[in-house]
Amino acid sequence: MDCTKCQSLIEDFLKQSLTPTESEEFIRHVKNCPDCYGELEVYHMVYSVVSELDSGDESEDVDYRESLARMLSRVGTHKRRIRVAKYIFITVGITLLIIIIFFIKGIVF
Ligand SMILES: [Zn+2]
Repeated sequence: MDCTKCQSLIEDFLKQSLTPTESEEFIRHVKNCPDCYGELEVYHMVYSVVSELDSGDESEDVDYRESLARMLSRVGTHKRRIRVAKYIFITVGITLLIIIIFFIKGIVF
């Protein structure tokens, strides 16, 4: 993903309307590109302020950098969970297969 593409996706990322693949590529680029990260930071701050004004929620001392970092790592955590779930699924599948094979052999012999 290049910077132009990345920066065109910032608003969609903040609205969380990117596909999982898009958002993965977006985060990978942003983490390695100070320019785009800076841009994302500015957008994120503006979005946060606007949504606070909308909700009338006057929370003081909001650390926008911190909340952005949390947002980026939350997506990472989600990906990790999917990977762990896949691993468990495959392990259980193989175990079941072995049990079935033994079961069939037990019946045959
Ligand atoms: Zn970039």
